Amino acid sequence: TAPSTPPTATIFRSRLPDIVLSNQLPLHEYVFENTLTSASPCIISASTGRSYSFAETHLLSRKTASFLSSRCGVRRGGVVMLLLHNCPEFVFSFLGSSMLGAVTTAANPFCTPQEIKKQLLASGATVIITQSAYASKISRDDVEGPIVVTVSDNELERHATPPEGCVSFSEVESADEDAAPDAVAVSPEDAVAMPFSSGTTGLPKGVVLTHKSMTSSVGQIVDGENPNLHLRKGEDVLLCVLPLFHIFSLNSVLLCGLRTGAAVVIMARFEMERMLETVQRWGVSVVAVVPPLVLALAKNPLVEKYDMGTVRMVLSGAAPLGKELEAALKGRLPQAVLGQGYGMTEAGPVISMCPGFAKQPTPAKSGSCGTVVRNSELKVMDTETGFSLGRNQPGEICIRGPQIMKGYLNDPEATSATIDIEGWLHTGDVGYVDDDDEVFIVDRVKELIKFKGFQVPPAELEALLLSHPSIADAAVIPQKDEVAGEVPVAFVVPSKSSDLTEEIVKEFISKQVVFYKRIHRVYFILAIPKSPSGKILRKDLRAKVASSFSS
Ligand code: ATP
Ligand code: MG
Repeated sequence: TAPSTPPTATIFRSRLPDIVLSNQLPLHEYVFENTLTSASPCIISASTGRSYSFAETHLLSRKTASFLSSRCGVRRGGVVMLLLHNCPEFVFSFLGSSMLGAVTTAANPFCTPQEIKKQLLASGATVIITQSAYASKISRDDVEGPIVVTVSDNELERHATPPEGCVSFSEVESADEDAAPDAVAVSPEDAVAMPFSSGTTGLPKGVVLTHKSMTSSVGQIVDGENPNLHLRKGEDVLLCVLPLFHIFSLNSVLLCGLRTGAAVVIMARFEMERMLETVQRWGVSVVAVVPPLVLALAKNPLVEKYDMGTVRMVLSGAAPLGKELEAALKGRLPQAVLGQGYGMTEAGPVISMCPGFAKQPTPAKSGSCGTVVRNSELKVMDTETGFSLGRNQPGEICIRGPQIMKGYLNDPEATSATIDIEGWLHTGDVGYVDDDDEVFIVDRVKELIKFKGFQVPPAELEALLLSHPSIADAAVIPQKDEVAGEVPVAFVVPSKSSDLTEEIVKEFISKQVVFYKRIHRVYFILAIPKSPSGKILRKDLRAKVASSFSS
């Protein structure tokens, strides 16, 4: 265990002053606090074109609460699992569960039956809400209550009746909203969501977030006289294309949209041309993206065919975004502010946010993840000594504030290894804070490649590789080496009709970096494995290299 912080610890704060957070309200009351009766659009389904006002969204959420209570036996503290692509029913189920004082845990419908079962049992969910196409992935024996099915907008074959043994979500429409137990006393310390981390470095970890964590996190970015992320009520249209089962989209798109009164256009999943059409059709003004999507937007020629002129803000998060890629996207969307947020499921999730998105914006440098969110503290810890570091010195980023998780699900040991006795959450990410309070993420502690005594961040080399016109995508991992311990090697996806060779790639990098960051081997590959939340799955590539060595 690390020694406690010395009294001289350097603590970094937001550029924006602290505000009074409304974090004593239950999440569902908090998000509707200023919009409850509003007739302006709240949720828009991109696939059906159907739009729900704030008042309708609230009503349908209450009906869902009533349905979950009377038909599915969900009570305060109960757990509902959402196995859904983005859809309006996700929103109603999430908010309806909150109204009951129940907790939701969401998973990717593409998960295997075993993965679903694992999350189901770990979370203790008694009800699953899914699309009829995925109901067969769930064993009846594992669910105490019903399997509720929605009809996918994209399903060719619309099921008039749900699959055997399942209850139809359409029953919600006839549920009595007044029968929903409104009086449920929800405490701010009650859990409201149990998202799972992305599983980038190992198995996904269940994270317990309370009403207080989530209202604090949303409030830190969109509340106050000068909100850090300024969304305009009744004017802005947010694109929700990133999966809601991941915390980034849930927090920074859906909940921030609801809280501020902006509309949220929901796309079931990412598909380039449909996304561009959706932006054009609904006049999308704010887009949340992950680096693979930035890559697509920056390099795909289709983008030129659509009018992106309404986009005023592009928020990238979830993984490192190189300066070169950022510049390429800026070239295509000159009218928009492009910036990053940095977060982690365990941190509630937002840790820092680009100040260029504020109502009174201040500039952020290229490559920066903005400044730490308001009403919280950030420090950079020397991983060897445990002492805090000053400006411009890279170390492990730690965050403290009312937004961080209560703990890992059923894992007090992992919790106390991550949140120390002073309340600091240790992120496992290496980064530094510069002279202007801006946070820069170098890479994860665990992903740094150790070449002799030197550390090589793969993210830095990946960003350089992507700046080569003949490279469509790239990833860097360590490979064992007798002399150096580890050396960086690259996986490269050549762009169509390029005549890229290993030598060209190696030379392109060695011209730009010190000797220990040079790439020692290049493997050409068809696609880089990535998670749905936009992260490079370097562990899959490491396994590839390891197995090719043993064979
Ligand atoms: P797991 O913990 O299961 O291995 P994960 O850490 O990828 O998966 P998430 O909680 O979804 O799961 O992601 C948080 C991580 O994403 C952070 O710890 C950080 O490494 C990375 N990240 C998020 N935003 C940024 C950003 N803007 N720049 C660089 N890295 C980022
Ligand atoms: Mg993590």
